[in-house]
Amino acid sequence: MRIFDPHVHMTSRTTDDYEAMYAAGVRALVEPSFWLGQPRTSPASFFDYFDALLGWEPFRAAQYGIAHHCTVALNPKEANDPRCTPVLDALPRYLVKDSVVAVGEIGYDSMTPAEDTALAAQLQLAADHGLPALVHTPHRDKRAGLRRTVDVVRESNLSMERVLLDHLNETTVKHAIDSGCWLGFSIYPDTKMDEDRMVRILRTYGTEKVLVNSAADWGRSDPLKTRKVGDAMLAAGFTEDDVDQVLWRNPVSFYGLSGRLQLDVPKPESLHEGNSVLRSGE
Ligand SMILES: [Zn+2]
Repeated sequence: MRIFDPHVHMTSRTTDDYEAMYAAGVRALVEPSFWLGQPRTSPASFFDYFDALLGWEPFRAAQYGIAHHCTVALNPKEANDPRCTPVLDALPRYLVKDSVVAVGEIGYDSMTPAEDTALAAQLQLAADHGLPALVHTPHRDKRAGLRRTVDVVRESNLSMERVLLDHLNETTVKHAIDSGCWLGFSIYPDTKMDEDRMVRILRTYGTEKVLVNSAADWGRSDPLKTRKVGDAMLAAGFTEDDVDQVLWRNPVSFYGLSGRLQLDVPKPESLHEGNSVLRSGE
C-alpha cells in the first residue's frame, strides 16, 4: 500500500514516527504551515518556521525515505492577531519556492472579519502564483463554517477545482461535494472523525476527489491513521485500486496542480549505510 499523507505536521513529530510511517507505506506527505500552540508574537517567528518547512524538515523526512512538501500561509487563528498579519505581505517570496505545493492552511477558525480579510487575500495569492489552496474548515459550527467558506471561495479568482476543503465530516460532505472542491478528511484517535465513519462516507459518496489525512500534530493524534483507513477500506470490501486512489492518486492529483511535486526520494536502506541517519544532538 503506497500512502501520501496530504496533511501532517511533522515538525511536532519524532523520528520514530517517520520510521513507523515509512514501514506503514507512507512515501510522501504535505506539511501545512499552522499554529504552533504557543502564539507567535512577530512575523519573524513565522519566517523561521517557514524556512524549517522548506529546509530542515524535508531533509529530515528524506533520511526516512519520505518525500516532503509544504504549504505556506498565515493560519486562520493567528490571522486575528495584528502582530502577525504583516506575514501576508511576505508570503509571495515563499510561494515561489519549489517545495511549496499550495497556499494553506487558510480558512476560518472563529469566522471573524480579520479571518475574512486573510482568507480572501490568500485565495488571491494562490490564484496569482498558480497554486491550489488547502482550506481548513472550522471544528465548531461546522455547517455554517463550511457554507461561508464555500461562498468566499466561489467569489474568489481561484477555481473550485483548485481548492481542498479539509476537516470534513458527515454534516458537511454533501455541501462540499456540490461545491466542486476536493474533499479532505482528517482522521483522529478519538474525536471528530474515525476510520469506520470514513469507510461509511466512502461507501455513500464514493472515492472520487477524496483525500484522507492524519492531521497529526502536537495534540493527541496518530500519523498512521492513513494506513488504518486503507486497512479498514480493504476489510469493508473496497479494492486495492480504490485504496490507491484515495491514499495516493487523489493527493498526487490535487497537489500536482502546483506543477511542483517531486516524489522520487532514495530508499532509506541506502541512506542507512554509513550510519548517516540523523541523531539528535549530532
Ligand atoms: Zn493541520
